[in-house]
Amino acid sequence: MKALIIGAGIGGMSAAAALKQQGIECEIFEAVKEMKPVGAALSIWQNGVKCMRHLGMGHIMDELGGPMHNLAYQDGFTGDIMTQFSLKPLLEAVSERPCPVSRADLQSQMIDFWGRDKVQFGKRIEKVEQTDTSVTAYFTDGTSATGDMMIAADGTRSIVRAHVLGKELDRRYAGYVNWNGLVNIDTDIAPADQWTTFVGEGKRVSIMPIAGGRFYFFFDVPLPSGLKEDRTTVVSDLKGYFKGWAKPVQTLIDAIDPETTNRIEIHDITPFDTLVKGNIALLGDSAHSTTPDIGQGGCSAMEDAVVLGQCFAEIKDIHTAIKSYEEKRRFRVQDLVLKARKRCDVTHGKNMQETQAWYDELKIEEGDNIIIGLKNTIQGGPLG
Ligand code: FAD
Repeated sequence: MKALIIGAGIGGMSAAAALKQQGIECEIFEAVKEMKPVGAALSIWQNGVKCMRHLGMGHIMDELGGPMHNLAYQDGFTGDIMTQFSLKPLLEAVSERPCPVSRADLQSQMIDFWGRDKVQFGKRIEKVEQTDTSVTAYFTDGTSATGDMMIAADGTRSIVRAHVLGKELDRRYAGYVNWNGLVNIDTDIAPADQWTTFVGEGKRVSIMPIAGGRFYFFFDVPLPSGLKEDRTTVVSDLKGYFKGWAKPVQTLIDAIDPETTNRIEIHDITPFDTLVKGNIALLGDSAHSTTPDIGQGGCSAMEDAVVLGQCFAEIKDIHTAIKSYEEKRRFRVQDLVLKARKRCDVTHGKNMQETQAWYDELKIEEGDNIIIGLKNTIQGGPLG
């Protein structure tokens, strides 16, 4: 049995690892010649970390995961702590730690785990043909490949999705711009073992420790889409948007390297029911494209892969196994996308009264409610 895997992102590499565990041969095709991730880092929550261990890649998490032991929210303007607590109860409840990781390092190590020379780079799929027993991918370089099934992990702008659904889907602008990057750890910005978030005016500034003595940072600002801003104006743009904000925020802006800071207009796709067609399955962002507001897009791609593997462990018929994958994943991924959308709206001031109510809640939060929310999301994954 041979699977064509389209895309060598987190989803594609997880899917390949999961199918290999079931003795299924995989050929991986990646559009770009060199991987250039759109974001600097990712928080892999415990559901994702468990999936990585299940797929034999736990060592990557252990090596790359930053020491994130505490969580705090601070008032953006005064810097006053609104809430601050240990994440230890969460670790104890789910028996795993969260791992904020460099995205480039994660993708690179996942590809190395599989074997870099076995991934076919520069292969951009443009057309799919399928019969009951085979799938053929046609690439823009004029070549093609045929297998018994296809796992389409070709991201949020998936080409294969239109074939599976029979229609194109629009991406929805979520209403805010995210800048992200890495800086050296500086305790004048935030404690070195804490996920720290400054909030105010529907904006936020977040800092997380990753391995190698670095902070992953991101700034979110509600803005119209299509502004003429880029790397060259990043420092002055952020200085303007965060004028009057607390000293650690200014220190962070002064520390960033515009050359390595990404600016992304955040989108998602309204969840849909169909994730598969016969012997083709969508997986990762091609199947469920979410805002990053609960840090679950990559984690859920890993979950997809684990469930796909579980389906093939139980069922040998391709169509039945793939249908079973869809049934097992559909509601979980819809729930995560909508949860993230809701969180996105509250965080980014879609209705400022609701956002203010959230700020007020944070001032009386002792950690329990946030930990329950995180725990429920994590335990909703396939490995509990
Ligand atoms: P991708 O990572 O997009 O990979 C798709 C791959 O397919 C790419 O390598 C691409 O080049 C390739 N490809 C595309 N088209 C073709 C084609 N036609 N032919 C062949 N190959 C193709 N998730 C988390 O879990 N935690 C977080 O903290 C988090 N933070 C985020 C922050 C930001 C700012 C953003 C934007 C996202 C964040 N996410 C997070 C989401 C996460 O990045 C995605 O969910 C994850 O990368 C999805 O992986 P994927 O493999 O499905 O898609």
